[in-house]
Amino acid sequence: MEADYAIIGGGVVGLSVAWGLLKRGKRVIVIDGDDGAFRASRGNFGLVWVQSKGMNQPRYARWSQQSAAIWAEFAEELGDNTGHAVPLEQKGGYDLHFSEETLQETVEKYETLKAQLDGDYPYEVLGHNALRKEEPHIGPKVVGAILHHQDGHANPLRLLTALADDVRRMGGTVLNGKTVTDVTKPDGFHIQCSDGTVIGAAKVVLSAGLGAAELGPKLGFKAPIRPQRGQVLITEKLPKLINRPSLIARQVDEGGIQIGATNEEVGLNDRVTQPGLSGLAAEAIAAYPALARAQLVRSWGALRVLSPDGLPIYQESPQMPGAFLVTCHSGITLAAAHARLLPDWMERTDAAPDLEVFSETRFAIS
Ligand SMILES: Cc1cc2nc3c(=O)[nH]c(=O)nc-3n(C[C@H](O)[C@H](O)[C@H](O)COP(=O)(O)OP(=O)(O)OC[C@H]3O[C@@H](n4cnc5c(N)ncnc54)[C@H](O)[C@@H]3O)c2cc1C
Repeated sequence: MEADYAIIGGGVVGLSVAWGLLKRGKRVIVIDGDDGAFRASRGNFGLVWVQSKGMNQPRYARWSQQSAAIWAEFAEELGDNTGHAVPLEQKGGYDLHFSEETLQETVEKYETLKAQLDGDYPYEVLGHNALRKEEPHIGPKVVGAILHHQDGHANPLRLLTALADDVRRMGGTVLNGKTVTDVTKPDGFHIQCSDGTVIGAAKVVLSAGLGAAELGPKLGFKAPIRPQRGQVLITEKLPKLINRPSLIARQVDEGGIQIGATNEEVGLNDRVTQPGLSGLAAEAIAAYPALARAQLVRSWGALRVLSPDGLPIYQESPQMPGAFLVTCHSGITLAAAHARLLPDWMERTDAAPDLEVFSETRFAIS
């Protein structure tokens, strides 16, 4: 057997899990697809985000909180190991509102969730004037914001690079440009690639993002994953304009303002559209009018990896024990949990987190 674990998919989810398994002394091979593959890990918004997660499933809110709480330590360890810092700021984040009604509705939902989390949901409501003290560039149309103190943001590309570097440094193998076409389990797992390579491993993690929809059923999973497009814009580097991130805009560590993202059900189409980008720009200018003068330098579209209820899926295959499906639509937020906590679940240690609510048995499809 070449490896204890073969990880199918080398995006942020697969690399985070690989990192955690390597730390536990496992032999790991990561098999990552070709350049034409959809890669959410390279096109996302970089938020390490707690608010609004798990409004209908408190365990998801808690799982996001657990990950956010250990993110800084995780980023620091990656930085120390690789010599490349993973920029991270966790001084809170905003949900900005343009109407009192939507602000009140959201507060009511947060209060319900807060009670379910035994009060551990640290947020405050800022009216326009209070918000303006925190964010001098906020526009008059913003009536207020929810400031959640567990929110933050990171540089997702630096995270991806550091993870790949550290996985290799710890002795993991990362095979790029190899597409897995089938997995069989005669004695251990045989992972077959389109170029004829066959890799043997004792266990398999399917973390292939959207690729899991096709491969999943071959391993006994339902894998009901769908794409959802998000378009994103980025401006030239600017002097400090935004202190804390929001779902509308954030100022990245390098100075540009990232604006996004749309939520569009357009199948496997990751192109940008003029209406999509204009809509994003208009909303961002309403929030921060000074952005009207900013030069845009780039735009892109990327596909989210979504389950039917938006929650992660963590499932061991009933037909092929030893094969795990790991997928989520907040792979940056959950990177620390996937690296530091999830391997205990795969290894069934005493420290294994209870992830039962994330099993795919919750989906009625066969
Ligand atoms: C616009 C946008 C904004 C987002 N914003 C945030 C955010 O602010 N915060 C946050 O936490 N999350 C955010 N996300 C979500 C986050 O980016 C994803 O949850 C995460 O990147 C998913 O990582 P992944 O590794 O599962 O998938 P991917 O990054 O898509 O990687 C999957 C990998 O699997 C490989 N693969 C596929 N099929 C095969 C195969 N058959 N054989 C071998 N390899 C295969 C592909 O080559 C690919 O590299 C956002 C996503 C988008 C699109």
